[in-house]
Amino acid sequence: MIADSKIEPQLDWQEIDTVLLDMDGTLLDKYFDDYFWEEHIPEVYAKQNNISIFTAEEELLAKYKEVEGNLEWTDLDFWSEKLDLDIEKLKEEVNHMISVHPYVPEFLDYCRSLGKKIMLVTNAHPKTLKIKMNKTKLRDFFDEVVCADEIGLAKEQDGFWQKLSEKYEFDKSRTLLVDDNNAVLESGERFGIKKLIHVSKSSTMLPVSHSTKFPSIIFFKELMGE
Ligand SMILES: [Mg+2]
Repeated sequence: MIADSKIEPQLDWQEIDTVLLDMDGTLLDKYFDDYFWEEHIPEVYAKQNNISIFTAEEELLAKYKEVEGNLEWTDLDFWSEKLDLDIEKLKEEVNHMISVHPYVPEFLDYCRSLGKKIMLVTNAHPKTLKIKMNKTKLRDFFDEVVCADEIGLAKEQDGFWQKLSEKYEFDKSRTLLVDDNNAVLESGERFGIKKLIHVSKSSTMLPVSHSTKFPSIIFFKELMGE
């Protein structure tokens, strides 16, 4: 559920040791991903199969829906095979469109200055992660970078955070999770992560949409003390 009314985050940094951050839509502009899957791939797929863009979009949307919310959705090899396209190469071709949201490097520096452990936790495929880290140069800001692929579940699936905490020790009662996906925040909540914050401006091309359940931010500067 989304709404116009914003729940303001009340964050006491002294209660936080670990910061878990999502990548796409949270740190990076989701416009790249939306453009890639909703515009670039339909064009290439239509050309390859000699069909109209409209038909390509319809066929692709049905295929996307089948795997929504599980790891196949982000698996480049799965899509390369399913669509008979080199998805990795196609992503590289449009990588100039990958961009970092405002105040992200400043926020990461801020967390570092407070001595927090910073983890990037993403559903993105390792090949996508590599393309994005190469392009944005954000890798060195993180203590750990984890692809859901490594855990074997998507972040919104029950069991993910438990497994993550077994592999990378963190105290859930002293952890902050920031994500643009409400289903991910809900799974974090069920596991017992103490602080959950929603990013309401995931893409420069989409309107702000605050969570009705979780405190929201538009930009990370809202979490940085004066
Ligand atoms: Mg996201």
